Amino acid sequence: MRIPFNDLKRHFEATRELVAPAVERVMQSGWYVLGREGASFEESFASYCGARACVGLASGTDALELALRAVGVAAGSRVATVANAGFYTSTALLAIGATPVFVDVDRSTYLMDLHALSRTVAEGVDAVVVTHLYGRLCDMDGLRQVVGPRRLPIIEDCAQAHGAARGGRKAGAFGDAAAFSFYPTKNLGAVGDGGALVTNDPDIADKVRLLRQYGWNPKYHVTMRGARNSRLDEMQAAVLLAKLPYLDHWNARRREIAERYANGVRNPLVQTPALCGGEAVAHLYVIACESRDSLREHLAVADVMTEIHYPVLDCNQAALANTGEWPALPVSEWLSDRVLTLPCFPELTNEEVDFVIARINEWRPCTP
Ligand SMILES: *Cc1c(COP(=O)(O)O)cnc(C)c1O
Repeated sequence: MRIPFNDLKRHFEATRELVAPAVERVMQSGWYVLGREGASFEESFASYCGARACVGLASGTDALELALRAVGVAAGSRVATVANAGFYTSTALLAIGATPVFVDVDRSTYLMDLHALSRTVAEGVDAVVVTHLYGRLCDMDGLRQVVGPRRLPIIEDCAQAHGAARGGRKAGAFGDAAAFSFYPTKNLGAVGDGGALVTNDPDIADKVRLLRQYGWNPKYHVTMRGARNSRLDEMQAAVLLAKLPYLDHWNARRREIAERYANGVRNPLVQTPALCGGEAVAHLYVIACESRDSLREHLAVADVMTEIHYPVLDCNQAALANTGEWPALPVSEWLSDRVLTLPCFPELTNEEVDFVIARINEWRPCTP
């Protein structure tokens, strides 16, 4: 049995009857960019998130960058973020000329540590980007309390958290603005790149509508700097619109898989993440293990594919070398040597999950 890390062909087979007519409809319409499908998806996704507005964009990274620009982040701004979330926020900040100010994470949730954040906020930042990493919602009430009195803009990175909810409120409806990605492997995935900004603030939505289309207002009259071409095309919008009604169902299956791992993995050397019901949508199932590379090798030999999210902290990336002193991030460093992501996608079978569990439970690291 070979167990892939993800298998988008299975996902296509499972969604063929939804996706194929949507693609055909767009092809026949003769209208491919910023049309009815996009508008309809924006309305549906905003309503799904419980937010006032959604603006379709070309990618999640663009959504982060344009959200930052729309809340006033500019060259020289300092923005608090974590260093263990794959550099996407750092990419957006570098594009603007802003500086990431890295905040350490919590050892059990892997999410931004609010005590560390409150120290960073006291030192002075202009905005906060909070990443709902691996599909787990951050403590947004706690975060509001830390930054609230200073009225700092909060941007949620929801690229791994479509549908995660707490108290009936969904990821994307807590911050001033939220960035979503529809990269094919995300919980809601397109058949190519795609992204969106979600917000309750009509001014932010209006700004991003200009930023995504050359700064035009109206057409051919450029009224805003920092703009670009970043549009969610009609094909992707139609596919996403067709798939959206099934997002909760797929998230439930992801949670089922996470639960199966949590109940099945019984190896004293492996730490499984805490389950937290609907607050997590199991985008990635990430364990922590002292001898991570040995376990990964053992699984690879058994034909179980795994990944590391992420192998290099943002502050240790070559792209940021010689750009200054970064603060010590002991927990982020500790985790980045230990995290390992197991296969977790809706079409994975219970039999396959059990196979992975058995391989983990039989593993012992070779003694040197
Ligand atoms: C995927 C991802 C992004 C970037 O989305 P793209 O659509 O690939 O640009 C941003 N943040 C996180 C946490 C992600 O997982």
